[in-house]
Amino acid sequence: MVVLLPESVSAVRAALANRLQTSLNLAFGSALASIGLTIPVVVLVAVLLDLPLSLGLAPKDIILLVLSLFVCSIGLGNGRTNMMQGAAQVVIFAVFLFLSLVPPEQAEVAMRQPLHRIIQGMMFLAAIAGSTTAQAQSQALIDQVKAVIAADTPRLEATFKDLHRNPELAFTETRTAAIVAAELKRLGFAVTTGIGKTGVVGVMQNGPGPTLWYRADMDANGGVRETTGLPWAAKSPQTLADGSEVDVMHACGHDAHITWLLGAASALTQLKAEWSGTLVVYAQPAEEVGLGARAMVDDGLWTRGLPKPDFALGSHAAPAAVGMVSNTAGVRMAGVDQLDVEFRGVGGHGSSPEMAIDPVVMAAQAVLAYQTIISRTIDPQAPAVLTVGAIRAGRDNNVIPESATLLLNLRWLKPQVRELMLKRIDEIDNGIAAAAGVPADRMPTRTMKGHAGPLVNDSALVERLRPGLVALLGEGKVVGNFPTVMGSEDFQEAFAPLNTPYVFLLLGVAPPERVAAAQKQGRLFPYSNHNPDFLVDLPAVTLGAQINAVAALALFGPKP
Ligand SMILES: [Zn+2]
Ligand SMILES: [Zn+2]
Repeated sequence: MVVLLPESVSAVRAALANRLQTSLNLAFGSALASIGLTIPVVVLVAVLLDLPLSLGLAPKDIILLVLSLFVCSIGLGNGRTNMMQGAAQVVIFAVFLFLSLVPPEQAEVAMRQPLHRIIQGMMFLAAIAGSTTAQAQSQALIDQVKAVIAADTPRLEATFKDLHRNPELAFTETRTAAIVAAELKRLGFAVTTGIGKTGVVGVMQNGPGPTLWYRADMDANGGVRETTGLPWAAKSPQTLADGSEVDVMHACGHDAHITWLLGAASALTQLKAEWSGTLVVYAQPAEEVGLGARAMVDDGLWTRGLPKPDFALGSHAAPAAVGMVSNTAGVRMAGVDQLDVEFRGVGGHGSSPEMAIDPVVMAAQAVLAYQTIISRTIDPQAPAVLTVGAIRAGRDNNVIPESATLLLNLRWLKPQVRELMLKRIDEIDNGIAAAAGVPADRMPTRTMKGHAGPLVNDSALVERLRPGLVALLGEGKVVGNFPTVMGSEDFQEAFAPLNTPYVFLLLGVAPPERVAAAQKQGRLFPYSNHNPDFLVDLPAVTLGAQINAVAALALFGPKP
């Protein structure tokens, strides 16, 4: 206490010197600050008038304590409050609590009661000043982000339209990657290309502080022919390397993701004075096939000497109204597996099934039997999906083929459910094959092609983002309880080896009037991702960059 008290007093004096002026200025412009500064002054006067009271817990002490706790909780809950600031406010509160509860005659330093009360009041004032200043700084910075990115709108929209017009399939995103790399170099990032075939990583070191990895994915959807009729609709079909033609479209909004990343990276570069730490932005290939994040990791993402993340940020376009954002803690998206099952039989003439073992029949039985895994094996309280997306077998009407292959897709939230599904798939496959008379050495095979675990948002990071997002978008626009979806991502797979906490936002990109019209008809959304009529409303291009920039700044915290 001997050491603590003078330090606390000087800390309070320093805090007041630094912040009181700002807070008083703000008091004239901000209703919040004025209220925040009025309350402690009134309480302070009340306490000073009550000097003869004993230092036991008088009613006013209780009021002060409650108010102080309230103020400190505002300060700690503030998205721009970093660990240092939060810790400083906790210390202020702790000293205040001590002074309120311990009579001065019992403290090691004998302090006269009026001084005690003045220190109480000053500390309370400092806590108020700290939190109101932090909030006001946050709002000023958000306004700056908005302005900087709004000024960039024509360029961002042009970039978005260009990317949309030129979609590229998984692992062939060379044009997109080149655009990202060139722009990041122009902004001063240290750029590495070709990680996991087409992945691009840009590093900007900006003083001491945490390292944030912010990701956008690059690939488009195959087999989707755009029907939006927009002037910047996708050039399609495309000729693949093997000469075949396929329709390609950005029907999942990854073109917007890349544009958001470039817009946010540019803004954060211009606002370097406002944050401190290391910003890593990266463009990931092949999200749609669930292999891109893994490919980057397998290509040495974490062994190339790139700075390791303290936390990560990602976001995805959703067909909700522009301006809506889901910032929700916990399991957000399901784990996914892509796997192929091949039944091998004995081919033959269509007229002589007794001479053959028909893999088409085995495959058909398996498709139906698989559905009993969900309905009869898995706990009804544990969500799971098993979809057979393709059946490949045979060619002619009168030939029993040699083999039949099923292309399966699994979704699950818990690893135990995944294990159970895989076990039952094997049991069903082998059972069906055995019943059909398939010899033991030709039992069905299962090939695992792609895997991603569930996407689980870190609750502390969600909390840190919330105030900034609310300040940017408005209270009703930031959804904190969006339902878990059975759709999947591979964003988190990059961070699985490091156990990095992350937050993944869903951003509305649909024209609000179309969302309203759909909801009048009883539909939640006007269209869905991967559909030929999926579109990103142009205002979502600028706003998405603003949202991601504000989120990144919230994760960095204020400049120390
Ligand atoms: Zn998609
Ligand atoms: Zn996607």
